[in-house]
Amino acid sequence: LPEYAFIGRSNVGKSSLINMLTDRKSLAKTSGRPGKTQLINHFLINKNWYLVDLPGYGYARVSKSSKKKFQKFITNYFEQRQQLVSAFVLVDIRHKPQPIDLEFMQYLGESGIPFAIIFTKADKLKPKAIEKHVEDYCEMLLKTWEELPPHFITSSSKGIGQEDVLEFIGSTNDEIEQLKSN
Ligand code: GDP
Repeated sequence: LPEYAFIGRSNVGKSSLINMLTDRKSLAKTSGRPGKTQLINHFLINKNWYLVDLPGYGYARVSKSSKKKFQKFITNYFEQRQQLVSAFVLVDIRHKPQPIDLEFMQYLGESGIPFAIIFTKADKLKPKAIEKHVEDYCEMLLKTWEELPPHFITSSSKGIGQEDVLEFIGSTNDEIEQLKSN
């Protein structure tokens, strides 16, 4: 079955987003404390795709060697996943593009892994500011990328963006099915 992997800096709102997407409030535990999601979790959705919950990256207080180990863990996942259709890189809409996120997107690009960007916590900004932040982000991306990845604006606390993300996944799954049957 097709897989979609969700990843981002710790505390970006990944667990909340996963809960919103799956409508199961208790599925992924949320916490204000970073570092709670440690292992890879798979959730079977609608019996036809897997939502893969990857651990958050970018903890401030970890040693160099554990950072290395962690990177290896993530790259192992991406190297081995045949079923992976797309990664979703989560970024907090309030922040300027962060080097760690850009590096990670660079890594995905170089590895030939399609990805989309999910801006989280949109309820924390006014509509005008959202627009501006997304524009700035896209402008920055276009300095290194020829094409913009698909991007979505979400708020788990206000239930924004759920349909957009699910529709994207649904239509991508349909395309895969079509390709298979041809
Ligand atoms: P994770 O570490 O990336 O899994 O992040 P969590 O989902 O645990 O969220 C981290 C913190 O951000 C928690 O305090 C959440 O309540 C908060 N949070 C997550 N999503 C949103 C959102 O859409 N809006 C707001 N205002 N807060 C959010």
